[in-house]
Amino acid sequence: MTAATGVRRTAQKAAIRQALDGKDGFTSAQQLHAELEAGGDRVGLATVYRQLNALTAAGLVDAITVEGEQLYKACGDGAHHHHLVCENCGKSDEIDPPSEEWIQAAAAARGYTVTRHVFEVFGLCADCARIAR
Ligand SMILES: [Zn+2]
Ligand SMILES: [Zn+2]
Ligand SMILES: [Zn+2]
Repeated sequence: MTAATGVRRTAQKAAIRQALDGKDGFTSAQQLHAELEAGGDRVGLATVYRQLNALTAAGLVDAITVEGEQLYKACGDGAHHHHLVCENCGKSDEIDPPSEEWIQAAAAARGYTVTRHVFEVFGLCADCARIAR
């Protein structure tokens, strides 16, 4: 990789992170790509996917799957948390499940050691529910 390519890749990564940071909900790679292009950033869709996957692997971005589509959100410090997600617009809030201990206990009772867990609640946000009515 040449120095120029390196600089461009770093700029693309920064643009993608910035676009994600400005959102309070989940976004698809296509959506993000369209917004970057509209904002004058020339970034290929493949690059957007690659950077999003790298950010997800690094724990800087959360990824969830809604109806077969990967959606991404920059949640910050990477601390363990759970999401309440609007299936229509992607708006998301963080929620605490009733009991993290229950997960451990339920698994232990069946002889399992928990390595990780995923817990999201999907629905319609107040705005989307109003429109749907
Ligand atoms: Zn999150
Ligand atoms: Zn919504
Ligand atoms: Zn948890």
